[in-house]
Amino acid sequence: MSRPILLPSSIDVAVIGAGAAGLSAARRLATAGVQAVVLEARDRIGGRAHTVAREEFGLDLGCGWLHSADENVLAGLGRQSGFAIDETPPPWRTQAFNIGLTPQEQAEFGQAYADFDARVAEAAKAGDDHPASTLFVPGERWNARMDAISGALNGAKFAEVSTLDYDAYEDTGVNWRVVEGYGTLVSALGQAAPVVLNCPVTRIDRMGPVLKVDTARGMIEAKAVILTLPTSVLASEGVRFDPPLPDLIEAAAGAPLGLASKLHMTVEGAEDFPADSQLWGRTDTAQTGGYHLRPFGRPMIEGYFGGDLAWGLEAEGQAAFFDFAASELSDLLGSSFRKRLRPVATSMWGADSFSMGAYSHVLPGQGDAQTGARARLARPVENRIFVAGEATSTGFYGTAHGAWMEGERAAVEAIVAFGLDPRLSSGELT
Ligand SMILES: Cc1cc2nc3c(=O)[nH]c(=O)nc-3n(C[C@H](O)[C@H](O)[C@H](O)COP(=O)(O)OP(=O)(O)OC[C@H]3O[C@@H](n4cnc5c(N)ncnc54)[C@H](O)[C@@H]3O)c2cc1C
Repeated sequence: MSRPILLPSSIDVAVIGAGAAGLSAARRLATAGVQAVVLEARDRIGGRAHTVAREEFGLDLGCGWLHSADENVLAGLGRQSGFAIDETPPPWRTQAFNIGLTPQEQAEFGQAYADFDARVAEAAKAGDDHPASTLFVPGERWNARMDAISGALNGAKFAEVSTLDYDAYEDTGVNWRVVEGYGTLVSALGQAAPVVLNCPVTRIDRMGPVLKVDTARGMIEAKAVILTLPTSVLASEGVRFDPPLPDLIEAAAGAPLGLASKLHMTVEGAEDFPADSQLWGRTDTAQTGGYHLRPFGRPMIEGYFGGDLAWGLEAEGQAAFFDFAASELSDLLGSSFRKRLRPVATSMWGADSFSMGAYSHVLPGQGDAQTGARARLARPVENRIFVAGEATSTGFYGTAHGAWMEGERAAVEAIVAFGLDPRLSSGELT
């Protein structure tokens, strides 16, 4: 679902990447009457918002939850566009059947986590930018479990996460889902954007008054560029600048993508489990998966693997995710449980050269709101190269709505750079 076009020879704004940020930038530019084209490396739009149709359902391989849903711009746009929004709260804080964790232990862990969050907030208030793991209570029973949660939240363990940046994340605590799939929603909202697919950008020549953007489909001249590449792609110089932009590359390297991976499985006899419930494989290690049982009441289980565990399983290959999940679930639910499971879709975002991970976290020491990695990344270059994407968001990083809002922010910067008034619109994209 998009409006594929051929590569024009010149344009006002070349938007690089057709994920949430690129698609929202294109929408916003269109409302101001700015000529734009989106250059996308893949054969589809949506980027890390990607729903696949399996088992008659839309299964999200990337974003699934409308975080801060009561304030989330995409929840509103989704409803306006006729998407079904499911408000069932997530089961993340509970362990189904209390397997391996009594209710009292679950409450203890909840308290330990809240205390950790409070210590991080205090450190951040004092301006301390350390690895968040330095705020663990040494030797506390729950530290490994906290790192399992960090794997899911940050795609990395707390030792790799800046206290300042972790504290800056904004969350209303309300999480909803899109029944048709979050990826389906993002693609639908971007369907009118003019996108050149299968068009990886390789180089941006900024030597002259007009930018020359080299792509696999030829060169396009642009007055401005909105760059929405995942930070790990930028940092590995998936796109080269001429002359180089070492500050930008360094900033991107300070906010690398961690990894989170999803495995969707069908389960026989699903009615044995409460709908929308949760099991963690183990409680004494970070190397464990989270299993959402019967999401939306479906006869399925969604496995979620974060950080080092996800990188390790990806390195072994797709089948390793199912093996790992089936073993953990059989340990919890009985050795014959494996036979009731069948894998239907597995993500591989780390191995994908157009994402190189799942979502960004900021390295310790680079979390300052004014001088840190995200702030430097978002700084326009020569008032004609504007960077957007989930990683430039200070409060909503790592999310699809954060990426969407950042795409709009960059588009407004480009509109202003053209001397136009962003308050005036010349008609909506339809
Ligand atoms: C497993 C997983 C679970 C997640 N869960 C949630 C969640 O529950 N809720 C939530 O809000 N968010 C979640 N996220 C994060 C969310 O999906 C992302 O933050 C968001 O989609 C990023 O959008 P973006 O536009 O910044 O980047 P992307 O979507 O990555 O878009 C960048 C685009 O650039 C393209 N590109 C790359 N290289 C080139 C090149 N050289 N030339 C041209 N194009 C290029 C890519 O193909 C891609 O389409 C999850 C992500 C993953 C992977």
